[in-house]
Amino acid sequence: MNYKIQVKKIENVTHDVLHLITDKPEGYTFTPGQATELAIDKDGLRDEKRPFTFTSLPEDNELEFTIKMYPSHEGVTDELANLNVGDTFLMGDAWGAIKYQGEGTFIAGGAGITPFIAILKDLNRKNKLRGHQLIFANKTEKDIIYQQHIEAWLGSDFHNILSEEKTDKHAHGRIDKDFLQKHHLATAKKVYLCGPPPMMKALQSDLYALGLSREQLIAEDLA
Ligand SMILES: Cc1cc2nc3c(=O)[nH]c(=O)nc-3n(C[C@H](O)[C@H](O)[C@H](O)COP(=O)(O)OP(=O)(O)OC[C@H]3O[C@@H](n4cnc5c(N)ncnc54)[C@H](O)[C@@H]3O)c2cc1C
Repeated sequence: MNYKIQVKKIENVTHDVLHLITDKPEGYTFTPGQATELAIDKDGLRDEKRPFTFTSLPEDNELEFTIKMYPSHEGVTDELANLNVGDTFLMGDAWGAIKYQGEGTFIAGGAGITPFIAILKDLNRKNKLRGHQLIFANKTEKDIIYQQHIEAWLGSDFHNILSEEKTDKHAHGRIDKDFLQKHHLATAKKVYLCGPPPMMKALQSDLYALGLSREQLIAEDLA
Protein backbone atom coordinates (compact mmCIF):
# COMPACT_ATOMS: atom_id res chain seq x y z
CA MET A 1 0.00 0.00 0.00
CA ASN A 2 1.97 2.92 -1.34
CA TYR A 3 -0.32 5.86 -0.72
CA LYS A 4 -2.13 7.56 2.13
CA ILE A 5 -5.31 9.46 1.24
CA GLN A 6 -7.41 11.66 3.49
CA VAL A 7 -11.22 11.76 3.60
CA LYS A 8 -12.55 15.22 2.65
CA LYS A 9 -16.26 14.41 2.47
CA ILE A 10 -18.59 11.50 3.32
CA GLU A 11 -22.27 11.37 2.42
CA ASN A 12 -24.95 8.72 2.04
CA VAL A 13 -26.18 8.16 -1.51
CA THR A 14 -28.63 5.43 -0.51
CA HIS A 15 -29.56 3.95 2.87
CA ASP A 16 -26.48 1.66 2.81
CA VAL A 17 -24.14 3.23 0.24
CA LEU A 18 -21.57 5.93 1.00
CA HIS A 19 -19.96 8.40 -1.35
CA LEU A 20 -16.44 9.28 -0.19
CA ILE A 21 -14.24 12.04 -1.53
CA THR A 22 -10.53 12.01 -0.72
CA ASP A 23 -7.49 13.92 -1.84
CA LYS A 24 -5.50 12.46 -4.74
CA PRO A 25 -1.79 11.70 -4.51
CA GLU A 26 0.34 13.71 -6.95
CA GLY A 27 0.66 11.88 -10.27
CA TYR A 28 -1.73 9.04 -9.32
CA THR A 29 -3.53 7.68 -12.36
CA PHE A 30 -6.08 5.05 -13.45
CA THR A 31 -8.52 4.40 -16.27
CA PRO A 32 -12.31 4.76 -15.79
CA GLY A 33 -13.62 1.40 -14.54
CA GLN A 34 -10.48 0.48 -12.59
CA ALA A 35 -10.28 -0.25 -8.87
CA THR A 36 -7.67 -0.17 -6.13
CA GLU A 37 -7.22 -1.70 -2.69
CA LEU A 38 -8.06 0.40 0.34
CA ALA A 39 -7.42 -0.24 4.02
CA ILE A 40 -8.71 2.00 6.80
CA ASP A 41 -5.67 3.58 8.46
CA LYS A 42 -6.56 2.61 12.04
CA ASP A 43 -5.11 0.07 14.46
CA GLY A 44 -6.35 -3.43 13.66
CA LEU A 45 -7.55 -2.46 10.16
CA ARG A 46 -4.36 -1.56 8.24
CA ASP A 47 -3.90 -5.13 6.96
CA GLU A 48 -7.56 -5.48 5.94
CA LYS A 49 -7.32 -4.47 2.29
CA ARG A 50 -10.47 -4.49 0.16
CA PRO A 51 -10.99 -3.64 -3.51
CA PHE A 52 -13.04 -0.56 -4.46
CA THR A 53 -13.58 1.22 -7.77
CA PHE A 54 -12.90 4.88 -8.50
CA THR A 55 -16.13 6.71 -9.32
CA SER A 56 -14.22 9.91 -10.13
CA LEU A 57 -12.31 10.39 -13.36
CA PRO A 58 -8.52 10.37 -13.80
CA GLU A 59 -8.44 14.10 -14.61
CA ASP A 60 -10.35 15.08 -11.44
CA ASN A 61 -8.35 16.66 -8.63
CA GLU A 62 -9.89 14.37 -6.01
CA LEU A 63 -10.63 10.64 -5.76
CA GLU A 64 -14.19 9.41 -5.24
CA PHE A 65 -15.45 6.02 -4.10
CA THR A 66 -19.00 4.71 -3.82
CA ILE A 67 -19.15 1.94 -1.27
CA LYS A 68 -21.91 -0.35 -0.10
CA MET A 69 -21.76 -1.22 3.60
CA TYR A 70 -22.36 -4.78 4.77
CA PRO A 71 -22.88 -4.65 8.56
CA SER A 72 -23.52 -8.43 8.66
CA HIS A 73 -19.97 -9.15 7.40
CA GLU A 74 -18.54 -7.29 10.43
CA GLY A 75 -15.65 -6.41 8.12
CA VAL A 76 -14.20 -3.28 6.57
CA THR A 77 -17.32 -1.82 4.97
CA ASP A 78 -19.11 -1.96 8.33
CA GLU A 79 -16.28 0.18 9.80
CA LEU A 80 -16.88 2.88 7.19
CA ALA A 81 -19.91 4.01 9.16
CA ASN A 82 -17.48 5.20 11.89
CA LEU A 83 -15.27 7.18 9.52
CA ASN A 84 -14.94 10.96 9.79
CA VAL A 85 -13.64 13.74 7.60
CA GLY A 86 -9.86 13.91 8.20
CA ASP A 87 -9.47 10.12 8.67
CA THR A 88 -7.10 8.36 6.29
CA PHE A 89 -6.97 5.26 4.08
CA LEU A 90 -3.97 3.34 2.81
CA MET A 91 -4.26 2.79 -0.94
CA GLY A 92 -2.51 0.64 -3.56
CA ASP A 93 -2.06 1.07 -7.31
CA ALA A 94 -4.94 0.93 -9.78
CA TRP A 95 -5.96 -2.34 -11.47
CA GLY A 96 -9.03 -4.08 -12.84
CA ALA A 97 -10.55 -5.82 -15.82
CA ILE A 98 -13.22 -3.33 -16.81
CA LYS A 99 -12.16 -0.83 -19.41
CA TYR A 100 -14.26 0.87 -22.07
CA GLN A 101 -13.86 -0.90 -25.39
CA GLY A 102 -16.60 0.64 -27.50
CA GLU A 103 -20.37 1.01 -27.79
CA GLY A 104 -22.63 -1.49 -26.09
CA THR A 105 -24.74 -2.46 -23.09
CA PHE A 106 -23.74 -2.18 -19.44
CA ILE A 107 -25.29 -4.68 -17.04
CA ALA A 108 -24.80 -4.12 -13.30
CA GLY A 109 -26.02 -5.70 -10.09
CA GLY A 110 -25.98 -3.53 -6.93
CA ALA A 111 -22.51 -2.11 -6.19
CA GLY A 112 -21.45 -3.54 -9.57
CA ILE A 113 -22.57 -0.20 -10.99
CA THR A 114 -19.38 1.53 -9.77
CA PRO A 115 -17.09 0.88 -12.78
CA PHE A 116 -19.91 1.96 -15.08
CA ILE A 117 -20.42 5.20 -13.15
CA ALA A 118 -16.86 6.17 -14.02
CA ILE A 119 -17.22 5.03 -17.64
CA LEU A 120 -20.62 6.75 -18.14
CA LYS A 121 -19.31 9.94 -16.51
CA ASP A 122 -16.38 9.86 -18.93
CA LEU A 123 -18.64 9.25 -21.96
CA ASN A 124 -20.92 12.06 -20.78
CA ARG A 125 -18.00 14.50 -20.52
CA LYS A 126 -16.95 13.52 -24.04
CA ASN A 127 -20.57 13.80 -25.27
CA LYS A 128 -20.48 10.15 -26.42
CA LEU A 129 -23.31 8.54 -24.43
CA ARG A 130 -25.48 7.86 -27.47
CA GLY A 131 -25.68 4.21 -28.49
CA HIS A 132 -25.25 2.85 -24.94
CA GLN A 133 -27.79 1.37 -22.58
CA LEU A 134 -27.63 0.27 -18.95
CA ILE A 135 -29.52 -2.55 -17.28
CA PHE A 136 -29.33 -2.19 -13.51
CA ALA A 137 -30.55 -4.94 -11.14
CA ASN A 138 -31.36 -4.18 -7.51
CA LYS A 139 -33.56 -5.54 -4.76
CA THR A 140 -35.75 -2.46 -4.29
CA GLU A 141 -36.02 1.08 -5.67
CA LYS A 142 -34.28 2.55 -2.60
CA ASP A 143 -31.20 0.48 -3.48
CA ILE A 144 -30.70 2.15 -6.88
CA ILE A 145 -27.41 4.06 -6.63
CA TYR A 146 -27.22 7.42 -8.46
CA GLN A 147 -30.63 6.91 -10.06
CA GLN A 148 -31.08 10.58 -10.96
CA HIS A 149 -27.62 10.97 -12.45
CA ILE A 150 -28.06 7.89 -14.60
CA GLU A 151 -31.55 8.97 -15.71
CA ALA A 152 -30.10 12.31 -16.77
CA TRP A 153 -27.31 10.58 -18.70
CA LEU A 154 -29.22 7.78 -20.40
CA GLY A 155 -32.93 8.67 -20.29
CA SER A 156 -34.96 5.82 -21.80
CA ASP A 157 -31.82 3.74 -22.30
CA PHE A 158 -31.65 3.19 -18.53
CA HIS A 159 -33.54 0.01 -17.55
CA ASN A 160 -34.03 -0.99 -13.93
CA ILE A 161 -35.14 -4.38 -12.70
CA LEU A 162 -36.09 -5.00 -9.06
CA SER A 163 -36.12 -8.48 -7.55
CA GLU A 164 -37.97 -7.70 -4.30
CA GLU A 165 -40.32 -4.84 -5.16
CA LYS A 166 -43.09 -4.36 -7.70
CA THR A 167 -43.47 -0.81 -9.03
CA ASP A 168 -45.23 0.75 -12.03
CA LYS A 169 -41.96 2.21 -13.23
CA HIS A 170 -39.53 -0.70 -13.24
CA ALA A 171 -39.38 -4.32 -14.38
CA HIS A 172 -39.78 -6.94 -11.67
CA GLY A 173 -37.77 -10.15 -11.21
CA ARG A 174 -34.28 -11.17 -12.21
CA ILE A 175 -32.45 -10.60 -15.47
CA ASP A 176 -32.98 -13.73 -17.59
CA LYS A 177 -32.58 -14.71 -21.22
CA ASP A 178 -35.99 -13.25 -22.18
CA PHE A 179 -35.14 -9.94 -20.54
CA LEU A 180 -31.78 -9.87 -22.34
CA GLN A 181 -33.43 -10.64 -25.65
CA LYS A 182 -36.09 -7.97 -25.11
CA HIS A 183 -33.28 -5.45 -24.66
CA HIS A 184 -31.55 -6.54 -27.88
CA LEU A 185 -28.54 -8.17 -26.21
CA ALA A 186 -28.33 -10.78 -28.98
CA THR A 187 -27.19 -7.98 -31.31
CA ALA A 188 -25.17 -5.93 -28.80
CA LYS A 189 -21.69 -4.91 -29.91
CA LYS A 190 -20.05 -5.09 -26.47
CA VAL A 191 -21.52 -6.18 -23.15
CA TYR A 192 -20.01 -4.89 -19.90
CA LEU A 193 -20.97 -6.97 -16.90
CA CYS A 194 -20.31 -6.36 -13.19
CA GLY A 195 -22.09 -7.76 -10.16
CA PRO A 196 -22.11 -10.46 -7.51
CA PRO A 197 -20.64 -13.85 -8.61
CA PRO A 198 -23.94 -15.81 -8.92
CA MET A 199 -25.43 -13.12 -11.16
CA MET A 200 -22.28 -13.00 -13.27
CA LYS A 201 -22.25 -16.75 -13.75
CA ALA A 202 -25.90 -16.93 -14.79
CA LEU A 203 -25.71 -13.96 -17.14
CA GLN A 204 -22.50 -15.01 -18.82
CA SER A 205 -24.01 -18.35 -19.80
CA ASP A 206 -27.25 -16.62 -20.97
CA LEU A 207 -25.23 -14.19 -23.08
CA TYR A 208 -23.16 -16.95 -24.67
CA ALA A 209 -26.40 -18.84 -25.37
CA LEU A 210 -27.67 -15.74 -27.19
CA GLY A 211 -24.64 -15.96 -29.46
CA LEU A 212 -22.24 -13.44 -27.91
CA SER A 213 -18.55 -14.25 -28.16
CA ARG A 214 -15.98 -14.01 -25.37
CA GLU A 215 -14.39 -11.04 -27.12
CA GLN A 216 -17.65 -9.10 -26.84
CA LEU A 217 -17.93 -9.60 -23.09
CA ILE A 218 -16.04 -7.40 -20.61
CA ALA A 219 -16.71 -8.71 -17.13
CA GLU A 220 -15.59 -8.47 -13.53
CA ASP A 221 -17.26 -9.89 -10.47
CA LEU A 222 -17.40 -8.26 -7.05
CA ALA A 223 -15.62 -10.98 -5.11
C1 LIG B 1 -12.48 -5.27 -8.45
C2 LIG B 1 -13.53 -4.99 -7.39
C3 LIG B 1 -14.04 -3.71 -7.26
C4 LIG B 1 -15.02 -3.44 -6.29
N1 LIG B 1 -15.52 -2.17 -6.19
C5 LIG B 1 -16.49 -1.90 -5.28
C6 LIG B 1 -17.04 -0.58 -5.16
O1 LIG B 1 -16.64 0.37 -5.85
N2 LIG B 1 -18.02 -0.38 -4.26
C7 LIG B 1 -18.47 -1.39 -3.45
O2 LIG B 1 -19.39 -1.15 -2.66
N3 LIG B 1 -17.96 -2.65 -3.53
C8 LIG B 1 -16.97 -2.93 -4.40
N4 LIG B 1 -16.43 -4.18 -4.45
C9 LIG B 1 -16.88 -5.17 -3.46
C10 LIG B 1 -16.14 -4.90 -2.14
O3 LIG B 1 -14.77 -5.14 -2.32
C11 LIG B 1 -16.69 -5.79 -0.99
O4 LIG B 1 -18.03 -5.46 -0.76
C12 LIG B 1 -15.88 -5.56 0.25
O5 LIG B 1 -14.58 -6.10 0.08
C13 LIG B 1 -16.54 -6.18 1.46
O6 LIG B 1 -15.67 -6.04 2.54
P1 LIG B 1 -16.09 -6.38 4.03
O7 LIG B 1 -14.83 -6.41 4.83
O8 LIG B 1 -17.16 -5.48 4.50
O9 LIG B 1 -16.72 -7.79 3.93
P2 LIG B 1 -16.06 -9.16 3.42
O10 LIG B 1 -14.61 -9.06 3.25
O11 LIG B 1 -16.90 -9.65 2.27
O12 LIG B 1 -16.39 -10.09 4.60
C14 LIG B 1 -15.86 -9.95 5.91
C15 LIG B 1 -16.15 -11.23 6.65
O13 LIG B 1 -17.56 -11.54 6.60
C16 LIG B 1 -17.78 -12.85 6.08
N5 LIG B 1 -18.91 -12.81 5.12
C17 LIG B 1 -18.79 -12.75 3.77
N6 LIG B 1 -20.01 -12.74 3.18
C18 LIG B 1 -20.92 -12.79 4.19
C19 LIG B 1 -22.33 -12.81 4.22
N7 LIG B 1 -23.06 -12.78 3.10
N8 LIG B 1 -22.93 -12.83 5.44
C20 LIG B 1 -22.18 -12.84 6.55
N9 LIG B 1 -20.85 -12.84 6.59
C21 LIG B 1 -20.21 -12.83 5.42
C22 LIG B 1 -16.48 -13.24 5.39
O14 LIG B 1 -16.25 -14.62 5.62
C23 LIG B 1 -15.41 -12.40 6.02
O15 LIG B 1 -14.73 -13.04 7.04
C24 LIG B 1 -15.47 -4.48 -5.41
C25 LIG B 1 -14.93 -5.76 -5.55
C26 LIG B 1 -13.98 -6.03 -6.54
C27 LIG B 1 -13.41 -7.41 -6.66
